[in-house]
Amino acid sequence: MIRFTGIRWWRQFALALGCLMLVIACNNTAPNSTDAGSSPSGAGSNPAAAGKTLKVATDPTFAPFEFQGPDGQIQGFDIDIINSIGKAEGFQVDLESMRFDGMIGALQAGSVDTAMAGVTITPERAKVIDFSKPYFKAGLAIAVPEKNTDITDLDSLKNKKIAVQIGTTSADEAKKVSGAKISTFDSPDLVLQEVVNGNADAAINDKAVTLYAFKTGSLKGLKLVGEQLTAEYYGIPTPKGSENLESINRGLDTIIKDGTYAQIYKKWFDEEPPKLPETAPI
Ligand code: GLN
Repeated sequence: MIRFTGIRWWRQFALALGCLMLVIACNNTAPNSTDAGSSPSGAGSNPAAAGKTLKVATDPTFAPFEFQGPDGQIQGFDIDIINSIGKAEGFQVDLESMRFDGMIGALQAGSVDTAMAGVTITPERAKVIDFSKPYFKAGLAIAVPEKNTDITDLDSLKNKKIAVQIGTTSADEAKKVSGAKISTFDSPDLVLQEVVNGNADAAINDKAVTLYAFKTGSLKGLKLVGEQLTAEYYGIPTPKGSENLESINRGLDTIIKDGTYAQIYKKWFDEEPPKLPETAPI
């Protein structure tokens, strides 16, 4: 048993306290100094997100971009991308699940710092929130029952029953079809299920999500028809004027240049990524 007496005890205690404070101080400055060293823009840049924990909204019903794995953890292409950007820029990621429909509002209100949810960059959204440069080339597609032959494109959906996810670019697209009866759901799976059940003639969804549902065998008896309806790009959104956007863009550049992005893309899509534009042609 160790005994400390009088002054000696206090000396030991003060020394231990001093060491502890030094360790805390070093830890606090670590992300900043690491980032300044590895940042492509070098010294003098302002790594605004470094050392922070960013609250990242997501809706884990959008495989393979974000979904719950068998262990209950949220995983996917988007999650790998934001974690890698965080690693490059020295910020932590705190995922917050919410419905996609409420996400733009949450960003506008500033109750989250960003979102990873396959959010398409659109002119309307860009009026109320900011977007990073594009990180994924996407587009919408129509799914119908395998036996169907009369639905071949958007025009042939006239007066038909179309299922879409609420608050999405698919919902906007469906509104362009005259006489269509549109039903809305909270997730792409529910949208596709509506067609499987025979309650809707067709579903409009992000093509990559529908293809992944087919590939994983979670939905049977459907096929994609016609051309991809739209050319879209996903961006990483922030509230207007957020100081974190610069870090997010720089981190995205870093992971594209060092091959991390291509590695993640191949992991989820089994192919090389396409070249991304600097800005979305919207
Ligand atoms: N990309 C589509 C959109 O932004 C759908 C996104 C989603 O449902 N997570 O509207």
